Amino acid sequence: MSCGYEGYEFGGGYIDSCCIDGFLWDLDSCDEPGGGLTHGGDFACPRCNTGAFLEQAIEDAESCGVSMRTPWCGAEQWERAVAKARKENQEGAEAFLASLKPFIAADWPDRQAVHEGRASWENTISRQWPWEQEAQEQIEQKLTRSRKEPMIFLPSEIERAAFMARSALNPERAEK
Ligand SMILES: [Zn+2]
Repeated sequence: MSCGYEGYEFGGGYIDSCCIDGFLWDLDSCDEPGGGLTHGGDFACPRCNTGAFLEQAIEDAESCGVSMRTPWCGAEQWERAVAKARKENQEGAEAFLASLKPFIAADWPDRQAVHEGRASWENTISRQWPWEQEAQEQIEQKLTRSRKEPMIFLPSEIERAAFMARSALNPERAEK
């Protein structure tokens, strides 16, 4: 049984994977037209086996390395897996994430620097999912918003401020 999922999991650069019974198989591993697939069966399908798919991403979360000249780290892979799971099966992904216990993933202090070759992929830091920084950014966004709000003056407030300023300069006149 296939759920109809097809993807790019086997590195061909084109659609080269298909789902059979919840696991992905390499479409290029067919020896004869119409024959069975001989390579695959290890990766869980993000669409119909979403929990197992995310579980597999966690297994590699504490690792990092270079694959096809591209550095990778567990934290980044995990974020991609979550995005993919949400795209393929929003409900299943959210259910899995809601029951997920915090875990440690390897990340880079500066991801962009690693991808641009300015920092080594071997220098990783440990992060705990859910990322604290994400929560921090949300807090900062709120703070930025609340900081900005008082800066928007209503015309009446400007008038009042001008009145107060005049009062300070000339208290007698302002009393009248
Ligand atoms: Zn599937």
